[in-house]
Amino acid sequence: MAVETASAPTLDLAALREDFPILRRRINGRPLVYLDNAATSQKPRQVLDTLIHFYEHSNANIHRGVHTLGAEATGAYERTRTLAADLIGAASSEEIIFTRNTTEAINLIAYTWALEALQPGDEIVVTRLEHHSNLVPWLRLAQEREAKLCVIELTPDGRLDLDSLDELLTERTKLVAVGHASNVLGTIAPVEELARRAHAVGARLLVDAAQSVPHQPVNVQELSCDFLAFSAHKMLGPTGVGVLWARQELLEAMPPFLGGGSMIGRVTLDRVTWNVLPYKLEAGTPNIADVVAFGTAIEYLQRVGMAAVRAHERELLAYALEQLADRPELELYGPTDLDQRGGVISFNVRGVHSHDVSTILDEQAIAVRAGHHCTQPLHEWLDVAGSTRASFYLYNTPADVDALVSGLDRVKEVFHRAIGRAL
Ligand code: PMP
Repeated sequence: MAVETASAPTLDLAALREDFPILRRRINGRPLVYLDNAATSQKPRQVLDTLIHFYEHSNANIHRGVHTLGAEATGAYERTRTLAADLIGAASSEEIIFTRNTTEAINLIAYTWALEALQPGDEIVVTRLEHHSNLVPWLRLAQEREAKLCVIELTPDGRLDLDSLDELLTERTKLVAVGHASNVLGTIAPVEELARRAHAVGARLLVDAAQSVPHQPVNVQELSCDFLAFSAHKMLGPTGVGVLWARQELLEAMPPFLGGGSMIGRVTLDRVTWNVLPYKLEAGTPNIADVVAFGTAIEYLQRVGMAAVRAHERELLAYALEQLADRPELELYGPTDLDQRGGVISFNVRGVHSHDVSTILDEQAIAVRAGHHCTQPLHEWLDVAGSTRASFYLYNTPADVDALVSGLDRVKEVFHRAIGRAL
């Protein structure tokens, strides 16, 4: 386990990697090089231990039973809520709603707050970079409410074109929904500025933080956003847990999402009242064990330090871009200013399908992702059907980058004719 130092955040990579059992795996006789962290992260032993410990010692349903196990399970579940609140600087843990993932958190806002707030003719502003999770719910809602979807387009190197905001933001804008860090280009959105501009026309700002909370310090007060969503599985935690944060007054005013157990105050056959926050928005038995283990993941990241995670990924990104420069067969996407970019590199090898690139890399035990990465409008803008994506996390090393580079040498060897034709 590495610890952040105040002046120079560096990670003790050898010790840290020991915490991740899966990194000892070999594939095709070679050590695994895991560069698919934007899709999901690997889990440290501490998180796996928490899961087993919970089921072996404290498993029970929460918030109901008065028995010892019920109280222990409730305490462990609620402890994660406090850890999540502290991680993002929420004013209180009541502002943290557990969902299944980022997608569900965004849909929750679409089908509660937004469904009430939007009138025909109103406008929702999104960006060209959005993951389908932060686009499809707004497309559906715009259709349902006869609202209009407006799009912030990109500069040639893939940053948000803020010049278009003057035209896009009007008194009809009710919501600006923006990805904090792009899962394809890595672009980091200037959220504070977007919040200021959105609030100036009376709109709310929703931040899809699926690719930022796992990788950099995020503080909702500093961002001045109104809603924020992220997923545990991308930040060392288990699958099946997401977080929705929203300002308390907004959550208080919102109607419930799902109806059922836990979310009610009192039920008679002709009337129902709602529970207090956060329970009003968490119907039914939640994903208890995974939420508990997510708490261990947050503690792990906090011990390392989010600034150290960001600094490490930025170093890897700089090293990788340097190694991949001056290769005419590569088409690299994303901002050149690394202060405006997370640890993601998407690219194409000219003349070669992205699935073929990732298959050749997989033969060398290098896990990357190929396809449209749930961002079809962005790939339309890039004018390609798909791309190959390598994405870093705290346990990746410069040796992983070297493996990627030699893996791409192999792609060049295998496809030299196709590449030659495309150049
Ligand atoms: N937004 C972004 C930017 C993402 O990268 C992802 C995951 N690829 C999501 C939303 C959706 O996350 P989940 O699948 O956990 O709901």
